[in-house]
Amino acid sequence: MHSDLRIGALMLLRVCGRVQHGRNYVNKISHPELTHKGKITLIKKYLANISGIKTTYEFSIADGACAISPAFKTHDAHDRVESGILDILNDMCEEMDNSGRGCSQFYNCCDCGGNQCGCAYCFSCRACDHCLADQ
Ligand SMILES: [Zn+2]
Ligand SMILES: [Zn+2]
Ligand SMILES: [Zn+2]
Repeated sequence: MHSDLRIGALMLLRVCGRVQHGRNYVNKISHPELTHKGKITLIKKYLANISGIKTTYEFSIADGACAISPAFKTHDAHDRVESGILDILNDMCEEMDNSGRGCSQFYNCCDCGGNQCGCAYCFSCRACDHCLADQ
């Protein structure tokens, strides 16, 4: 009885230890927009921005999912980066090019507020429906 308890306690310790040592947060995102070259460009820029001297974040795409490495050490870091990447993937601008530029870069001269000013670079006259709805 006594030794059974001790074995049980040892097993519990071992399990706890393994959980703590193995604590990292692998980031995998599946998204239909991972085929968009402009969005991939933006994700690469985003990861370069959050990379530091100690950690360089990289990502790879396989089977319609992207994986970011190395794994995150905290849940907060994982969530922050995941939401940053989802913001990029969920930007449905119809005019986004392969460099990741969209309406807000193309049409930034003026914004007449829908009064048909006729300027070729006016945001409200030229931006796609998705970008206009986001405003
Ligand atoms: Zn747009
Ligand atoms: Zn203008
Ligand atoms: Zn206008």
